[in-house]
Amino acid sequence: MLAQLIIFGKVVVILVQQSWIRLRSQLTSIVHRFTYQLDDQPKNIVIVGASFAGYHAARCLANSIPSGHRVVVIEKNSHFQLTWVLPRFCNVDGHDEKAFIPYGSYIHGPPGSWSWICDTVESIIPDGRGGKVHLASGDSIPYEYLILATGASAGLPSRVCQTDKDTGMKALAHQRERIREAQDIVVVGGGPAGIELAADAKALFPEKQVTLIHSRKALLNDGFGMKLHQAICDEMGSLGVNLVLGEKPVIPDGTMGDIKLRGGDTIHFDCLIKCVGQTPNSNLVHFLSTETFTPSGHIRVKPSLQVLDDAFPQIYAAGDVIEAGPIKNARSAVQQAQVVADNIICNIRGQRQIEYRQQWWEGTTKLTLGTAKSVVYITDHSVEVLFSTRRQRVELDSAMVWKYLGVNPYVSC
Ligand SMILES: Cc1cc2nc3c(=O)[nH]c(=O)nc-3n(C[C@H](O)[C@H](O)[C@H](O)COP(=O)(O)OP(=O)(O)OC[C@H]3O[C@@H](n4cnc5c(N)ncnc54)[C@H](O)[C@@H]3O)c2cc1C
Repeated sequence: MLAQLIIFGKVVVILVQQSWIRLRSQLTSIVHRFTYQLDDQPKNIVIVGASFAGYHAARCLANSIPSGHRVVVIEKNSHFQLTWVLPRFCNVDGHDEKAFIPYGSYIHGPPGSWSWICDTVESIIPDGRGGKVHLASGDSIPYEYLILATGASAGLPSRVCQTDKDTGMKALAHQRERIREAQDIVVVGGGPAGIELAADAKALFPEKQVTLIHSRKALLNDGFGMKLHQAICDEMGSLGVNLVLGEKPVIPDGTMGDIKLRGGDTIHFDCLIKCVGQTPNSNLVHFLSTETFTPSGHIRVKPSLQVLDDAFPQIYAAGDVIEAGPIKNARSAVQQAQVVADNIICNIRGQRQIEYRQQWWEGTTKLTLGTAKSVVYITDHSVEVLFSTRRQRVELDSAMVWKYLGVNPYVSC
């Protein structure tokens, strides 16, 4: 009990610190509005990707870059795509639009301090002091500094995989139809996306067989303790989800079939949903030394979040594309983006770089376990705290994220 009180106390301190950082950046941005001056030929800080990492870096920089520089954001999606609600919307109809948040309102920099390009970066050509990015439209944009915030790729329910909202909504509807028509649903991968999708499917369609297969004996990855694993197993048990742990079976091709387990059992499926292996989008910087990439393709970075290749000090990276610790989530991506923005300003001013170290509280996690229950998990690696809540909206926390990104929920849906 005392340990839990201590951890709650620590969380309160973090919340106060974060509120102070937000207030300070708002004050800085007011001063910046009066001091930033337009330049005929500004030097570009190009940000590739505007999800949690890139969008936040753009906001921080547009509010504080010295005159003579500007931010150029290049994002291929028409809308900010909110991953958190995708497992839910793969099951529940009528809320799809809430996963697509209009871009723009999160960045408040003075006129000329930033610009937005909706396009795909196809290649990056570095030169000694910066480089150029080439876009699918045929344009090319020079940069002095580059921030790679390209995240990771996966199919639904982890990523939408479509660049415009209408096609993205159709993809969600298609996934729902597959689940609705199936009798035997098999979800492969016991990370957050697989757990949430399987629990929702069973809660909504108790008459269907739902099986969740995970390669390890414990659900989730090493960043989470056994207390959370046990709570998920208990809830899956009461929902009636069939959990298969410690199995990495060969997955047959086709829309239906049988999966053979090591012990000889087989599991029939007529709907298979893969929630395994998000691939980091690091191929744009293939020119970095091979040691800069982990075997999984994540980019190794210095504590300053510059890529771990001394030949390219102008290239920074943040979010799911980098290897910076066991936690990969939006909270971490935002913290990293803040450090990247601060370090680029320090670099322009000739000041020392600050260092990013992943903090325990960045791993705080909220998981839905069916349509009626969520659990919140906090650990400082010595104590695990877990509490559950039964009060959740169908569309989960999407309104909160809309507001956080400066948009009235759900105006201009
Ligand atoms: C189902 C699910 C639920 C989750 N729930 C939570 C949660 O509750 N809380 C939490 O903190 N985290 C959660 N996460 C994790 C969180 O979504 C990710 O950590 C976060 O999205 C990472 O942000 P990112 O900016 O690094 O990359 P991404 O979100 O992967 O975005 C990368 C961006 O880069 C763009 N891009 C990529 N390549 C190019 C290119 N060549 N040209 C132009 N643009 C490009 C993409 O279009 C995209 O917008 C969840 C993840 C999943 C899958």
